Amino acid sequence: MNNFERMAELLLPNIDKTPEYYESIYPARDLPDGARVVRIAPSPTGYLHLGTLFMALVNRITADSTGGIFYTRIEDTDKKREIDGGIDDIINGLIRFGINIDEGFVTPTEQKGNYGPYKQSERAEIYQTYVKKLLMEGLAYPCFCTAEELSIVRENQEKNKIRTGYHGEYAKHRNITVEEAEGLIKEGKPYVIRLKSPGSEENRIFFDDGIKGKVEMPENDEDFVLLKSDGIPTYHFAHAVDDHLMRTTHVIRGDEWISSVPKHIQLFKLLGFKPPKYCHVAPIMKLENGAKRKISKRKDPEAAVHYFAEQGFDSKSVIEYLMTIASSEFEDFRRANPTEDRQKFKFNIKKMSVSGALFDENKLLDVSKNVVSTFTPDEVVEKLTLWAKEYEPDFYSVLTLNPDYTRSVFAIDRECPKPRKDIAKWNEAKNYAAYMFDEYYVPSNDFPEHLNTSDIKAFLCAYREVYSETDTKEEWFARIKELCAPLGFAADTKEYKANREAYKGSAGDLSSVLRVAITGRKNTPDLCSIMQVLGKDKCVARINAAIDNI
Ligand code: GLU
Repeated sequence: MNNFERMAELLLPNIDKTPEYYESIYPARDLPDGARVVRIAPSPTGYLHLGTLFMALVNRITADSTGGIFYTRIEDTDKKREIDGGIDDIINGLIRFGINIDEGFVTPTEQKGNYGPYKQSERAEIYQTYVKKLLMEGLAYPCFCTAEELSIVRENQEKNKIRTGYHGEYAKHRNITVEEAEGLIKEGKPYVIRLKSPGSEENRIFFDDGIKGKVEMPENDEDFVLLKSDGIPTYHFAHAVDDHLMRTTHVIRGDEWISSVPKHIQLFKLLGFKPPKYCHVAPIMKLENGAKRKISKRKDPEAAVHYFAEQGFDSKSVIEYLMTIASSEFEDFRRANPTEDRQKFKFNIKKMSVSGALFDENKLLDVSKNVVSTFTPDEVVEKLTLWAKEYEPDFYSVLTLNPDYTRSVFAIDRECPKPRKDIAKWNEAKNYAAYMFDEYYVPSNDFPEHLNTSDIKAFLCAYREVYSETDTKEEWFARIKELCAPLGFAADTKEYKANREAYKGSAGDLSSVLRVAITGRKNTPDLCSIMQVLGKDKCVARINAAIDNI
């Protein structure tokens, strides 16, 4: 045994597998040319946030557009920052937003696929096998520096304007001998295992980022940590081993990682792996006092996807909106194919924005109105009821009192070629449909200002006599028109416009009077349909009350 092999045995005596073993059990994937294998690798240190959802979507549509695979891997190497229920929230969240997971954690408790385990804490032996290989090649070594020692070095570096970090002459244990290491271990000193970087700051590396294009950076010369003192790897090392063995072709991740690429490329090279294609995605931004800044988990409620659920945004709306951020071509696709599955959209990651797109809630509301307008009445009622059950219990009780009635309410102006686009999120629905439920209906006297109260009253009294609940839309309007002449109103709009002085108002004004009397509002969907759904008793009662209150 040479000294490197002795060091490897000293530090990792229990590792008896070899990289060749793992290469053979995780063979190259049998996929068609061009199929991309992509993943998200969330750390369960918080709840699902918009950035992770966006990243998952971009990965998902990359796999969809190339016939590839999208998998999830849980990066739980930072046990101190892990939160209870983090994995559940992230995985269930993706499922709820309709992001299909082909492999990895397909539910919070179920792992699927031949490249697992898909949780880093279950892969310690694999990482250690590869660290052992680097040790045997003299490319890694133990470092016994304490946190205090490292911070003293850093302070000195800062004071002397030297690049901080564990590199070159500051890499204290770079040349530690087996005997020295053995002595320190016997004394019970904790240690990490570091890479012995063969790089130099003088050299440049180049890589072709799938989004940002050609990138040039200094080569890594830092002896960064591969395994922490508890034998658990750092992100950098786990990334190289996992993305290689899981046969990831494209690493699509947040651009906060771009500065680590020199470390990653070096690791892939030293381990004998082919590096993946890196695609660094700019974060979603927010405008604050005229300046763009990254959306922040701490400052912005919309950073947590729970915000969207609480507001009652349908998950489909959020995804549709994120698609418009992912690709500027998506809106054209959607216009041309209003009801097509988003999977049919050919996504080209190369065209993603290099600087972060702005989060625009108004745009989300618009997109969402379109999405909600495509739902059937049954879908609306189902989704709305589910939402109200959790977030608006009083409305939930009203909605579920008479399900057939509720369905008819939300069928108004919906089962037609051009459904109204006036609900963006479920927390608007109660106000939107309030007048359809006696519990929320608020009478109003807000009749058109240019009409006399006596004319309003006369019209409502006359209408009450002729009203028939079985009228079709045409018959309904014909009745209002018939009342025009006797009351001094114009039945014909053109005639009214040409000769305003001759009339008190138009048939349109009279419909407005009826609308206010029945709904308490000036703007509503089709009034005839509303009256049909409300039914005779309610309509008559409301007309009577309006007459009494004038
Ligand atoms: N665990 C890393 C994170 O949550 C994953 C980054 C990556 O996709 O490689 O930021």
